[in-house]
Amino acid sequence: MVEIRGVHKSFGNLDVLRGIDLSVRPGEVTVILGPSGSGKSTLLRTVNHLEKADRGSITVDGDFVGYRRKGDRLYELPEREVLRRRTRIGFVFQNFHLFPHLTVLENVTEAPVAALGRTKQQAAATAHRLLARVGLDDRAAAYPRQLSGGQQQRVAIARALALEPRLLLFDEPTSALDPELVGEVLDVIKDLAEQGTTMIVVTHEIGFAREVADTVVFMDEGRIVEQGPPAEVIDRPRHARTRAFLSKVL
Ligand code: ATP
Ligand code: MG
Repeated sequence: MVEIRGVHKSFGNLDVLRGIDLSVRPGEVTVILGPSGSGKSTLLRTVNHLEKADRGSITVDGDFVGYRRKGDRLYELPEREVLRRRTRIGFVFQNFHLFPHLTVLENVTEAPVAALGRTKQQAAATAHRLLARVGLDDRAAAYPRQLSGGQQQRVAIARALALEPRLLLFDEPTSALDPELVGEVLDVIKDLAEQGTTMIVVTHEIGFAREVADTVVFMDEGRIVEQGPPAEVIDRPRHARTRAFLSKVL
């Protein structure tokens, strides 16, 4: 589903990604752990066409991120095509990023109408189904400011799902939430995992990672230090840096 090969990315002379190789199989959940500044967000943003890799390649469902293949050459994609491909990858941010002036329902229907050409009625029917799935259909007419952080994040997940993404990316989806609201958001993500949604989740929630991840990746200083099933990376880490990190977050 996702193949990341030899990806490098620098900002000025700061090497943020220093040769990332990672495969995510369809229906699998990959959790990325790592200290602040290790390049986790940059990696997600690169997968989602928000940053451009300096070297290496990424494919999602066989499509190159940022490029089109003709014969054995790669050509840069026009911006319109980049936007089209980006809409097929859901991205859920730490700070929800809902449109404050739109209702919950409008937040969820806006992109399917604008980007997928759905009618308003089709988009509304889908939105109600998705809002029910995240437990919020009764708040469809509310505005984001009238919701708790956990509710806003569940709306953001419904909004991402409305674009029928083939891949969902989460960047610390619960780290802006009060502790008592974390569980309701993780439960929605767990439910998606059980339905076979392909996801890459950056989080510091180790319990969640242990329960839901097929693969746990530990990143440090722009590299993958180790990866494997949670029973290995979390419970029997091989590298001192992984052990040091886990001892701080556990
Ligand atoms: P955190 O856990 O704090 O979110 P992270 O692992 O997500 O950290 P990144 O946000 O990917 O880390 O950042 C990696 C490094 O790249 C940091 O040093 C950051 O300051 C730098 N960086 C990220 N984006 C940019 C940018 N657009 N321009 C310059 N430097 C950047
Ligand atoms: Mg980050």
